[in-house]
Amino acid sequence: MPIGLYIHVPFCLQKCRYCDFSSYPLEQGQVEHYLRGLRQEMAYYKEILTPEQKQTATIFVGGGTPTCLVSGQLTGILEQVNRFFTIIPGAEITTEANPGTVTPDSLRELRAAGFNRLSLGVQSTHRELLRLLGRIHDFEQARQAVQDARAAGFENINLDLIFGLPTQTVAHWRQSVSDILDLAPEHLSCYSLQLEEGTPLSGAVDRGQLAACPEETELAMYHIVMEMLSAAGYRHYEISNFALPGCQCRHNLLYWHNREYLGLGPAAHSHLNGVRWGNVEEIHQYVSLLHRGQRPAEEIQTLSRREQMEETVFLGLRLIEGVSLDAFQQHFGAALTEAFNKQIRDLTEKGLVELAAGHLKLTGKGLPLANQVFAEFV
Ligand code: SF4
Repeated sequence: MPIGLYIHVPFCLQKCRYCDFSSYPLEQGQVEHYLRGLRQEMAYYKEILTPEQKQTATIFVGGGTPTCLVSGQLTGILEQVNRFFTIIPGAEITTEANPGTVTPDSLRELRAAGFNRLSLGVQSTHRELLRLLGRIHDFEQARQAVQDARAAGFENINLDLIFGLPTQTVAHWRQSVSDILDLAPEHLSCYSLQLEEGTPLSGAVDRGQLAACPEETELAMYHIVMEMLSAAGYRHYEISNFALPGCQCRHNLLYWHNREYLGLGPAAHSHLNGVRWGNVEEIHQYVSLLHRGQRPAEEIQTLSRREQMEETVFLGLRLIEGVSLDAFQQHFGAALTEAFNKQIRDLTEKGLVELAAGHLKLTGKGLPLANQVFAEFV
C-alpha cells in the first residue's frame, strides 16, 4: 500500500503568540542549509525503502509556513520528491499556506508545479483576535488569497479556524463561521485553542492579563460550528474536520486509519513497519546527522501488537464514523470488542461510546470529551 509523505518546513516570518510548533525565523542561509539536508534525507530513504514504500498517494507540506520560502524553493521540494519517490497519478498534494505569504504569481507557480490542495491558516476573521494571536495577516488578505488560489486553479481548499480564544464571544465565532462559509472552501478544520505552556498567550493568561475562554463558551462554539456547517452541506467526518462530499483530506485520513507515513524535515514524525519515530528538531543537528550518513531520528519506538491495537482504536475514534470492527479484525486477527471489552463496557455505560453499524464510535456526549475517552485505551 502506498505511504503518505509529510514534509516539515520549519520557518515562519513571525512567531504566532499561541504557537509551540517547531519553527525558526526565516533566514535564507538557514533555508539553503535545510533544503540541502532535506535532499539528503530523501536520498537516504531512497536507498532503504522498498519500491512499494517509495510510492506515495498523498503529500502534505506543512510547517512552519511553507509559503514563506522564496520562489522556486517550495516547488523545488516537490521536484525532489518526484526524483526520489513515485508520486501515484491522482495523488493529493497539499501545502499549508499563510494568507500573508501568498501572491497570485506564487499560487500559480505552486499549482503549475503539481500542488492541488491548499490549506490556508485563516484562524479568525476578526482583526482584534488575529492581532491577539500574533498572526501576520488580516481577513481581507485571507479572502484575497482564496480568490487568487481559485484563479490559479486550486479546486480543493481548506481553511483553518480556531475557537475558544480569550476575549472571543459566541457572536464573534458565529460571524467568523459565516464569513468563512462565504468563501466556499471544500474543507474546514476548526480547532479549539490549546494554551501551550511557554507561549506568550498562555503566559498572559497565567499572569491574569487575559481570561481563558470559559469551558461552556467553548462547548457552545463547538456546537455552533457543527450546526452551521452541517446546514451548509459539510460533513463532519473527524472531531475537528468538516468537508464537502468527496473532499475529505486523504492525507490526514491516513493518520486516523493508523496507516504508514514518512515524515521528512526537522521535527517530522514517521510511522513505518510498526515503528514510530520523530526527527530531531534542531536544524543544524538534523543536517549534520544527514551529512554523516545517519538517520536524523530520535524517540524510536517499536510498537508491540497491543500498542498497535491501542493506537488503531484511539486514532480511529477521532473519526465520526469510528473504528471499523471488520477492518480491526482483519488487521489484527482479533475482535476489537474482546480486546477492549472492559473499556467499551465502561465507556458505553457512561454514554461516551457506542457500537453501531459495525463501528465503535464516540457518541454526541463523548465527542467533546474525546481526550478522556482516548485515555482509557492506552
Ligand atoms: S504561522 Fe503557524 S507555524 Fe508559524 S508561528 Fe504561526 S502558528 Fe506557528
